[in-house]
Amino acid sequence: LNPDNSNFTPEELDVEKKLRPLSFDDFTGQDQAIDNLKVFVEAANQRAEALDHTLFHGPPGLGKTTLAHILANELGVGIKVTSGPVLDKPGDLAGLLTNLDERDVLFIDEIHRLSPIVEEYLYSAMEDYKIDIMIESGPNARTVQIHLEPFTLIGATTRSGLLTSPMRARFGISSRLNYYKKELLTTIIQRSSQILKVPISMEAAIEIAGRSRGTPRIANALLRRVRDFAQIKGDGTITIEIAQYALKALRVDAHGLDEMDTKILTTLIDKFKGGPVGISTLATAVGENGETIEEVYEPFLIQEGFIVRTPRGREVTEAAYTHLGKERGLNQGE
Ligand code: ADP
Repeated sequence: LNPDNSNFTPEELDVEKKLRPLSFDDFTGQDQAIDNLKVFVEAANQRAEALDHTLFHGPPGLGKTTLAHILANELGVGIKVTSGPVLDKPGDLAGLLTNLDERDVLFIDEIHRLSPIVEEYLYSAMEDYKIDIMIESGPNARTVQIHLEPFTLIGATTRSGLLTSPMRARFGISSRLNYYKKELLTTIIQRSSQILKVPISMEAAIEIAGRSRGTPRIANALLRRVRDFAQIKGDGTITIEIAQYALKALRVDAHGLDEMDTKILTTLIDKFKGGPVGISTLATAVGENGETIEEVYEPFLIQEGFIVRTPRGREVTEAAYTHLGKERGLNQGE
């Protein structure tokens, strides 16, 4: 149940698409971002102009891709989807850009992972709707300038800190997505269960919401797994008993922490006396990549008050000891 969807099977990706809201009205939460986006979209529509380039940043599974599709729908335009690591040659980018119709959206996921050459090309495309491409090679090599239709680039990143400043400066709109409160996740779970046609009690929806790590993607993934338990161990309805049974079997803890979250906290406590410890040392100790810890796990653990970042590294808090039922060592706390 990784918040990332990288290990989803094709069937799971299909279900994820089915559950994706298509309009502003379908989208739950992120009120501040949505209210502003509605204004920008309406203004662009009235002027019949392309929406300003837009950047979404925040942890995985909070709705960045969903919002890119919603913006295209609300603008009444087409969308082309790609990602930073996939676009490795300027030619690939030129191909996408020259195929955009007026006001279309080009969505680039993981935009912080673009190669520097491709990024360079993107600058003039974003700024002047022009690109220079090199044709032929050797003595016949020359560049031709291609004019593009006005378009909107929507970038998504889990690591806005890794974006270069010229890149960041080219986005007229920048929006940060935050973790969702339990009430909002409950609404999202209820909506998803209607789409999946699985009956669920209010209590069960709240229970799943509280264990979803503030993340709609996890809420939906848990709902699908709990649905399996309801089908096999019950009569198909997700009751509170079925939900609790399933969540226990899935080893999702009461706070929504998953195995890696717990491993990070336990390692900090057992191996490093609660910290502080540097990210790379911690990464090696838990057997996970440092970037993933910073992008995926740490933001939630910090938000929930289980760890703090200090100049000397990461440190667990009193709340983590309490949650895990561990004692703080006698030599700690100085
Ligand atoms: P990101 O691009 O930030 O990783 P996605 O946009 O792919 O996240 O969202 C993951 C899943 O979570 C989507 O399939 C969508 O169904 C669901 N989702 C995300 N945000 C919301 C929301 N605000 N309301 C309802 N469902 C949402």
